[in-house]
Amino acid sequence: MYLKEFDASVEAVNGNRIVLDQTAFSPRGGGLVSDSGTLAGMIVTEVLREGEEIVHVVKPSMEVRPGALVHGVLDWDRRHKIMRMHTTAHILSAVVNRETGALITGNQISPDKSRVDFNLDNFDKQKIFSYIERVNEVVGKGLEVKTYFMKREEALANTGFVKLANAMPPSVDMLRIVQIGDVDTQADGGVHVKNTIEIGNVIGIGTENKGKNNRRLYFTVE
Ligand SMILES: [Zn+2]
Repeated sequence: MYLKEFDASVEAVNGNRIVLDQTAFSPRGGGLVSDSGTLAGMIVTEVLREGEEIVHVVKPSMEVRPGALVHGVLDWDRRHKIMRMHTTAHILSAVVNRETGALITGNQISPDKSRVDFNLDNFDKQKIFSYIERVNEVVGKGLEVKTYFMKREEALANTGFVKLANAMPPSVDMLRIVQIGDVDTQADGGVHVKNTIEIGNVIGIGTENKGKNNRRLYFTVE
């Protein structure tokens, strides 16, 4: 997750869409926007997962052929912000879950502003800031964020490991687990910081009602 540049060989080219034999670019998915950066001097505007393939959408499309060796460079400032936002979203959902019992029903992680949805009837606006305060306390502890793999059945046997049930297709046999200190352990495929201290300061931006029992909380990091 801390690889900023890499070399790869081109496997397929279709107009402005390039598939490589390996990549450090993280594709759009799981509520996270994709990485951007450059590939052989071309701008990577979007990275998508299509079946087993990771497709790099580039601009302008240049003459690259299958077999060519290319160098990829991530827009690291943007990527690190996404990692900070994503780890924050996990801590926030753990805090809100502990305080209210609510489960996360969706999230959108972007470099500038992110949001998490909870299945709550009531969202006490006064309490929002106390949740953000709790999040900042956790962040300030400098907790290690570990990632490891676990068999699907074993992970599912642990209540709380899979909060976003639809994010885990049954075809996946080994699940990647992300553990933030003793605060949160989740099956998760996205990019995270390796220590919560990298997050910095978390700021609550506001809330929104999205239906009867869906409450949306916006935040950012600085
Ligand atoms: Zn996640």
